[in-house]
Amino acid sequence: MADYYERLGVPRSATPDEIKKAYRQLALQHHPDRNPDSAEAEARFKEVTEAYETLRDDEKRSLYDRFGEQGVKGRGGAGRGGFDFSDAIEIFMRDFGGGGGFSGLEDLFGMGGARTRRGAQSRKGQSTRMRLPLTLREVATGVKKALRVALLEPCEACDGTGAEAGTEPVPCPTCGGAGEERHVQNSVFGQFVSVQPCRTCGGEGRVVESPCQKCRGDGRVRVEREIEVEVPPGVTSENFLTLRGQGSAGPRGGPRGDVVVLLDVEEDPRFTRQGADLVSQLPITFGQAALGDEVDVPTVDGTARVTIPAGVQSGEVLRLKGLGLPELNGRVRGDQLVRVQVWTPQDLSDEQEEALRALRSIESIAPDRIRTGRRNGFWSKVKEAFTGG
Ligand SMILES: [Zn+2]
Ligand SMILES: [Zn+2]
Repeated sequence: MADYYERLGVPRSATPDEIKKAYRQLALQHHPDRNPDSAEAEARFKEVTEAYETLRDDEKRSLYDRFGEQGVKGRGGAGRGGFDFSDAIEIFMRDFGGGGGFSGLEDLFGMGGARTRRGAQSRKGQSTRMRLPLTLREVATGVKKALRVALLEPCEACDGTGAEAGTEPVPCPTCGGAGEERHVQNSVFGQFVSVQPCRTCGGEGRVVESPCQKCRGDGRVRVEREIEVEVPPGVTSENFLTLRGQGSAGPRGGPRGDVVVLLDVEEDPRFTRQGADLVSQLPITFGQAALGDEVDVPTVDGTARVTIPAGVQSGEVLRLKGLGLPELNGRVRGDQLVRVQVWTPQDLSDEQEEALRALRSIESIAPDRIRTGRRNGFWSKVKEAFTGG
């Protein structure tokens, strides 16, 4: 038997705050975004979320403390189908959404209410999860993409009812159409009534006597559908999009689940992302550093012409204003920070060696310390930005 306190690694006397903290840490550790394609991490994520969802609620927690898992099953959240991945993701987003997802948080609150409603109801379709790879350039501009997704759609032959043409679903004989079963249990603590979705009809309140031949009574058939996803600019791999009500239909006319799109921003070897800023390296020769130059540097959108000021030092940073990434849901666009690296040649031609020997005989001695960011306002700003000042 699973112990919810053990799953979260907290004592039975843990405060709500301790429970929340322990859950957050475990959920982040096992979050599917950080453990792609790991069934084990997904299972752990579900387990800790299920435990958290019970222990965070005073009423459910006291039922759990007295009656164990049986005391909380069927009381909202964990329905007949159990606790699935999308439930877990939604709970995580609801309580910690600020750092992860960014859409439809209010909807999630509303939906929690709808799901705990008592009585007969159609079951909701499963949520579908998929990954969407994005390039850095797509992150910069935002992008609309068409995704092919395998879903369950209402069966046309029976109009989604699951009943053979000419017949109709009938009220469930077990629960009389109420959709739930009540069991009275006597314990040393007194009487305890548990309410569970009806096992015959799964809580729907109706059953199909002559199943539709095409969908075998499920009311749904498998189809591949194309859905359009609009990714706003500035996202990271920590974000996901929830396309509410665009997932699989529920059985026999149940509402649709969601499509959860996990964003996967591909690494771009040319850039390191620092918030909305992009950092790139610019190797230059000693001649370019000493005399200055104009060069093209790659940007996320293409290239930009950059002036290398004469006397630039290795490690100095040239700031290309507004050529970074947009902030998510913000109006500001970050900068590209071009870090200059002076390249020392290792294989010299005779001619180069001769010129460099001549230079060495007349060049100034290097100072004890190289001072950068001394030039003017522009340079001091660059220095501030790079040292995080
Ligand atoms: Zn059918
Ligand atoms: Zn029933």
